[in-house]
Amino acid sequence: MGNLKLRGISILLGLGLAGMAGTAQAAPCMEVVLTGVQGGPPVFQGQAGAGTLVRYGTEENKCSDVLLQFDAGRGTTQQLSKIGVPVGKLNAVFFTHVHSDHSEGLMDMMQLRWHFNSGGPKIDMVCSDDITAPKGHIMSCRSYGANLGAALIASGEMAQRLAENPKRLPGGPSELLNIMTFMGSDDAQTVWEKGDVKVTAVKSRHVPGHASYRVDTPAGSVVIGGDAGNDTPAPPRNASTSAQVEALAQGADVVVHSVIHPIMGPDGESGFPPPIYFRQSTATDLGGLSQRAGVKHLMLTHHIPPLGASKQGPYPVKKGGLSADDYIQAVRESGYDGNIVIGPDLTKLRLVAE
Ligand SMILES: [Zn+2]
Repeated sequence: MGNLKLRGISILLGLGLAGMAGTAQAAPCMEVVLTGVQGGPPVFQGQAGAGTLVRYGTEENKCSDVLLQFDAGRGTTQQLSKIGVPVGKLNAVFFTHVHSDHSEGLMDMMQLRWHFNSGGPKIDMVCSDDITAPKGHIMSCRSYGANLGAALIASGEMAQRLAENPKRLPGGPSELLNIMTFMGSDDAQTVWEKGDVKVTAVKSRHVPGHASYRVDTPAGSVVIGGDAGNDTPAPPRNASTSAQVEALAQGADVVVHSVIHPIMGPDGESGFPPPIYFRQSTATDLGGLSQRAGVKHLMLTHHIPPLGASKQGPYPVKKGGLSADDYIQAVRESGYDGNIVIGPDLTKLRLVAE
């Protein structure tokens, strides 16, 4: 935790510091909150699944004019409730990809919205177009959103609730989604805009249809890398990180990225499957990316393995569990001299324009 000043932007970071930004002014502020830091499908001590809230506004309204959720793993709604953000107030939800650990929290988020906010407004759901994978199946974020309520409709719950309150939308939670897809591209393209806030996206490699995002606001900028890895799926290659994410991150204030610790690599005796290891970005390579791109703050999320966990799913962690310092050390090996942020769910960082 701390309070520092860099290039005219003051920064507050840590847990539970909302409302402590000094003298309340109408200065623009952007806050980045890790709503869930769990990496992959395992569970560990109640950590929420992957997700990041980016909020923008003024210090007066605690950065609450625009609320953007990037990925929504399990428990996202609960974590947002801990910081006083009702899901009915989110403007948009963006998906890096449709792996369940990044997307399964959308169901209860939207069911809750349907229950109490059925009159709208709709929420924008932004992700890549349908894409056919090399083995022939289709990865479809659009279908995921469009079919969110299918089980609830099949069970009769929707009909029952509509009988109790016919003002609700008959199609269930999907009807409250405004699904906006884009064709993934190596070059950044604008995919969402509202006032001073602009979101751009690039295509990045992990599974087909994976995208990484950048949010630009007058208070600062943040890149959400997701699970991006290098286009070359395994060594030899110059780094495990994505060249597209590195280009997107040029001059950004903050990079939020999924991380894997080198201890899970093929030399680490964990038995973790090498192809899964190689498609993530390592802590050390994320430091290298951030250094080359001039990024001031690197926020590590989707920790593989979780902090303190003796296993990642069934795979043992050699040291019996990693500390935040273990991750920081691995990043510093790259020579990165910026700020490294790693912590539990709801770790956050605030930038304020002066
Ligand atoms: Zn993931």
